[in-house]
Amino acid sequence: MSITPLMPVYPRCDVRPVRGENCHLVSEDGRRFLDFASGIAVNLLGHSHAGLIDAIQKQAETLMHVSNLYGSPQGEVLAQRLVDKTFADTVFFTNSGAEAVEAAMKTARAYHQHQGDTTRYEIITFNNAFHGRTMATISASSQEKMHKGFMPMLEGFKYVEFNDLEGAKAAIGPHTAGFMVEPVQGEGGIRVATQEFMQGLRDLADEHDLMLILDEVQCGVARTGTLYAYEQFGIEPDILATAKGIGGGFPMGACLATERAARGMVAGTHGSTYGGNPLAMAAGNAVLDAVANDAFLAHVREMGDMIRGRLEQFIGNYPDLFEEVRGMGLMLGVKMKVESRPFVAHLRDHHGLLAVAAGDNVLRILPPLVIEPEHVEEFMTKLSAGAADYAP
Ligand SMILES: *Cc1c(COP(=O)(O)O)cnc(C)c1O
Repeated sequence: MSITPLMPVYPRCDVRPVRGENCHLVSEDGRRFLDFASGIAVNLLGHSHAGLIDAIQKQAETLMHVSNLYGSPQGEVLAQRLVDKTFADTVFFTNSGAEAVEAAMKTARAYHQHQGDTTRYEIITFNNAFHGRTMATISASSQEKMHKGFMPMLEGFKYVEFNDLEGAKAAIGPHTAGFMVEPVQGEGGIRVATQEFMQGLRDLADEHDLMLILDEVQCGVARTGTLYAYEQFGIEPDILATAKGIGGGFPMGACLATERAARGMVAGTHGSTYGGNPLAMAAGNAVLDAVANDAFLAHVREMGDMIRGRLEQFIGNYPDLFEEVRGMGLMLGVKMKVESRPFVAHLRDHHGLLAVAAGDNVLRILPPLVIEPEHVEEFMTKLSAGAADYAP
């Protein structure tokens, strides 16, 4: 037998974290890393946040799980808080991002089909998008590397170039149910949607009675300096998928929708065994306690501006390595002129810095949102040293 007990679908590196200390990770062999990957935009409160630990501990002692067949005082509290702080009127809790996207796509189809219009099922998505790894969410992505070996894809998706409003307009047909877009593409390479594109999609959706779904699984939950990124584009979606940071490391996600968009999501149409269980709700409430306030969001913007300013100065020293800085808040990327993946490995193996590679040769920087200026200093020191001794 040569297959590993962990199904070998990830090219795992030799960092084997066993402990987290705020913005640092400690590996099995004792090495210490500055964690500017945050479990890919998950650990937004860092690794040992007292409030989050306390909330999970208390809830675990009281009641961990009950079925969604029963009333959920814990879920009602978190759903109401999300409704109060966003465009949404109603929330469905999931266990992951892909499930939140699945719920969002089902909601968009049901919006049309619940009224008897069974012809509208197609969702227009955008090149290099990432929406998850389930059959429907890989089908929703144009990226062929995710389709390979899993054909056929589900039907009902059309792909258009990101930020191409004319293309999006031209793709609308008699079967179109809606658009789905990441306001800031994460895996695709920290590509930020333009204001005109987002406003244009909103206008097209209104004009053609389509659902505008935002996939904020990576860019949501304070990551960009507002609770959700759409706020900075001055538009509101009909449906939004959120996950990653929302549990601060506890697996959970949610599909948010307006009352109008959710008209098809009636009793018996959707479900999840674990989704919204009391333990997850305790984590979600603790995260919102920490992040959903003006002072915290201002801190994220301040730290984001600080890193961005430093990076913009710094990349000028290495015109052969770096091209430009992109992103919003603490969702940042440096577009590289060489392959970003080996550089990420170099920073990790030789300088104790964890970042993430992304599409389009981007070095992706996703620190915990609780970083302080001292972490920015440590980051810049490690990055400078890493660039200085890097020979691609
Ligand atoms: C990570 C991600 C997903 C999938 O989330 P999972 O929790 O891995 O299922 C979906 N959309 C975007 C934008 C993501 O970044």
